[in-house]
Amino acid sequence: MTTEPSKAPPLYPKTHLLAASGIAALLSLALLVFPSSDVEAKRTTLSLELDSPAEQLTQDQDTADAAQATTEVSASPFAQIESSDQDASQTAQAAPAPVVTEEKAAPNHREVVVAKGDTLSTLFAKVGLPTTAVHEVLASGKQAKQFTQLKHGQKLEFELGADGQLNNLHSKISDLESITLTKGANGYAFNRITAKPTVRSAYVHGVINSSLSQSAARAGLSHKLTMDMASVFGYDVDFAQDIRQGDEFDVIYEQKVVNGKTVGTGPILSARFTNRGKTYTAVRYTNKQGSSSYYTADGNSMRKAFIRTPVDFARISSRFSMGRKHPILNKIRAHKGVDYAAPRGTPIKAAGDGKVLLAGRRGGYGNTVIIQHGNAYRTLYGHMQGFAKGVKTGGNVKQGQVIGYIGTTGLSTGPHLHYEFQVNGVHVDPLGQKLPMADPIAKAERGRFLQQSQPLMARMDQEKATMLASSKR
Ligand SMILES: [Zn+2]
Repeated sequence: MTTEPSKAPPLYPKTHLLAASGIAALLSLALLVFPSSDVEAKRTTLSLELDSPAEQLTQDQDTADAAQATTEVSASPFAQIESSDQDASQTAQAAPAPVVTEEKAAPNHREVVVAKGDTLSTLFAKVGLPTTAVHEVLASGKQAKQFTQLKHGQKLEFELGADGQLNNLHSKISDLESITLTKGANGYAFNRITAKPTVRSAYVHGVINSSLSQSAARAGLSHKLTMDMASVFGYDVDFAQDIRQGDEFDVIYEQKVVNGKTVGTGPILSARFTNRGKTYTAVRYTNKQGSSSYYTADGNSMRKAFIRTPVDFARISSRFSMGRKHPILNKIRAHKGVDYAAPRGTPIKAAGDGKVLLAGRRGGYGNTVIIQHGNAYRTLYGHMQGFAKGVKTGGNVKQGQVIGYIGTTGLSTGPHLHYEFQVNGVHVDPLGQKLPMADPIAKAERGRFLQQSQPLMARMDQEKATMLASSKR
């Protein structure tokens, strides 16, 4: 393992995240993206009857394309306040809803709730402030304009002076944030207050009876945590094909709470997944250097030394074989690698940490990257369109780092990656290769690790027992 000289020391978590994010992206497709069409319905349910891996792989490309097409358009925060005349009149008619609520505490305190069609001007008017007050507020500074980004249901609180002038304007814009304008000698001063959530741990347990995503949602696990769980176990469990009815999971994760309300989640602290009768455990551990990774309960790394596939969303167009007809040379030749077809420009990732032996042209391979991993392993990536920035002969790369992009340079019939894997100089099938394990917990940190992992494991046992007992009653 080598480190890039240009970067700060703890590089491992990043590496891990990159690898995990690739898996998460794939799973996100497999799990949730397509509730509608037939083909994908099969994938959505991570179905119990998928048995052809080849068929699966060929579907991936379509799926990836479709995923791009279904990118969500997030709602503009301005959408609510763009008031057409029609909107305004509707609000007027449908308005038994009292927009102005008198507060008992102070007579000069007013609250309004943003309704459809409201603008800052209409809200000011509702509390009896003149249009000039709106201008004054907005002219007070750039940040004050945040008060124009109104959301339906948002509450604005006004403090008025004895003269009826605005002294203070306050609004909570999220569970964590509120903004305030306070009148002072030099006009209005803007202030943003961010609440710091308290962090606690939460537990869920689920049994799969239809799909992972449905079962996880029913158990109360968010989409994000479901993806996290899938990537934590992604090296051991094939979530696209191996999930079965009756599979179970337990998860302890961080929950962020403000005023008793959950406002977000943090990482999974520990998890257990039983797949077809075999139970896998995972514990998050942050070492003394500050880098976090997942380990089995006994301290072995969950991360394997190599990622399975150097290209996400690719289709295998040619497998490893000792004899096939070469498409261009038209002769029987060994194909000592795996071809992944994907659109031109698709990123290619380093399968593991290593030293770049070559980033350049290499005959029929076209633009090629060769990486040496430790002593025994070497990977080769051919036909690239180009190399990623900073990837050069003699340099180092981290696992999951983008090293180049799919192309069709050299002897190639179309955009694809030609990927080779060598062990001690011998070509092996990367799909057949049993992936070597990454390093376990360092001996010096083993005690510290167990101090953290044992209580988490015990808690999962206890919580699960309690839960099952109460559901039987
Ligand atoms: Zn090839």
